[in-house]
Amino acid sequence: MTKQSIYDQLKRPMRDLRLSVTDRCNFRCTYCMPKEIFGDDYAFMPKSELLSFEEMVRLASLFASLGVKKIRLTGGEPLMRRNLPELVGQLMHIEGIEDIGLTTNGMLLKTYAKDLYSAGLRRLNVSLDALDPEVFGKINGRGIKPEYILKNIDFAREIGFEIKMNMVVQKGVNDQEIIPMARYFKDRGITLRFIEFMDVGNDNGWSFEKVVTKKEIYEMLKDAFELEPVDPHYFGEVAKLYRYSDNDAQVGFITSVSESFCSTCTRARLSSEGKFYSCLFASNGFDFKKMLRDGASDDELREKICQLWDRRSDRYSDERTEWTARNKKKIGMSYIGG
Ligand code: SAM
Ligand code: SF4
Ligand code: SF4
Repeated sequence: MTKQSIYDQLKRPMRDLRLSVTDRCNFRCTYCMPKEIFGDDYAFMPKSELLSFEEMVRLASLFASLGVKKIRLTGGEPLMRRNLPELVGQLMHIEGIEDIGLTTNGMLLKTYAKDLYSAGLRRLNVSLDALDPEVFGKINGRGIKPEYILKNIDFAREIGFEIKMNMVVQKGVNDQEIIPMARYFKDRGITLRFIEFMDVGNDNGWSFEKVVTKKEIYEMLKDAFELEPVDPHYFGEVAKLYRYSDNDAQVGFITSVSESFCSTCTRARLSSEGKFYSCLFASNGFDFKKMLRDGASDDELREKICQLWDRRSDRYSDERTEWTARNKKKIGMSYIGG
C-alpha cells in the first residue's frame, strides 16, 4: 500500500487513531456515564451495529496508509469487548503502525492481561481517581474498591506491561487525593497523569468551578516534592511531564481546559459503530460502517478519509466558553472513548 501524509486546515498531520471497541462499561463514573442516565434500561448498541474486527482492521490499515502510526484502543470499557486480544494481534500486523496502547479502568486486567501481552500489547493506561475506598467507590458508581484495581496493576506489571495512570480531578470530589495518589505511584516508579475535568457530552454536570487546573495541582505537588520539567518526547504529546528529582518517576498533566493543545492535535477517532469524529467535542460523525457495508472499495474509503481530514478545522478547547460547554451538542465520552 502506498504511504502518504495528510494535513488538515490547521496543518496538523493525522498520526493517531483512537478506536472505541464498545460503548458498554462495567463502571458508572459520575463524570462519564452517570448511573441516573446509564441505568439498567439504557439501550446500548446491539452487536450487529458494532464494527467487526475485520472491519476495524480494514479501516485501521487505510488510516495507517495515510499517516497514522499509533492506535489507542478505548471504549466504554475496551476489555468488555469479547476476544479483544484477537483484535490486538491483528492490529499489530498493520504496516506503519508503530505503537498500540489500551486505556482501561483495570477491572478486568486479571482476566485478560496475559492474553493481551501474548497478542503483542505492551502499554496500558489505567484510570484510577482515588486511593480512598469511599471516594473511589462513589466516583465509579459501583462501589468498586481501589485495592482491586491496584492488585490488577501489580499483576499486569509483573507480566511486563508498561503502565501509566490517569486520574480525573474534580474540585471538592477527589482533589484531596492528589498527594496520596502522587506519592503512591512515585514510590512505584509509575507515571501518573492528572487530567483536567472536561465538558465532554451533555450530561456530566461540568462547570469551570469544578475544574482543578494544572497550575493548582502543580502548586500542591511542589509543596510536597521537588520537580523538574521533562522535554516533550514527540510532536503532539498530550501530557506535560515532570520528573521527581529524587527518583526516576514522572508525573504529568493533561491540560485540556487551562492550556489547550488543539494546535498539535493529530488524533482521528472512530466510534464502536464506525463513525469518524475529527474532535472529542464534535456533534456529528461520518458513518464509515455504512460505506463498508455498502461495498465501498479501499480507494473510495481512503478518499473519504482524506476528504474528512482535509476539511478538519476543529479547535474546541481553544475556543471553549461557559456557553459552548453548556449548550453545544457533543458526543459522550463513553461513546467515543477520550
Ligand atoms: N473505560 C476506560 C477508562 O476509564 O480508562 C476507557 C474509556 S474512558 C472514557 C477514557 C479516559 O477518559 C479515562 O481515563 C477517563 O477517566 C477519562 N474521562 C472520562 N470522562 C472524562 C471527563 N469528563 N473529563 C476528563 N476525562 C474524562
Ligand atoms: Fe467507564 Fe471509563 Fe467512562 Fe468510567 S471513564 S464510566 S470506566 S468508560
Ligand atoms: Fe483535539 Fe478537539 Fe481536543 Fe482540540 S478539542 S485537542 S481539536 S480533540
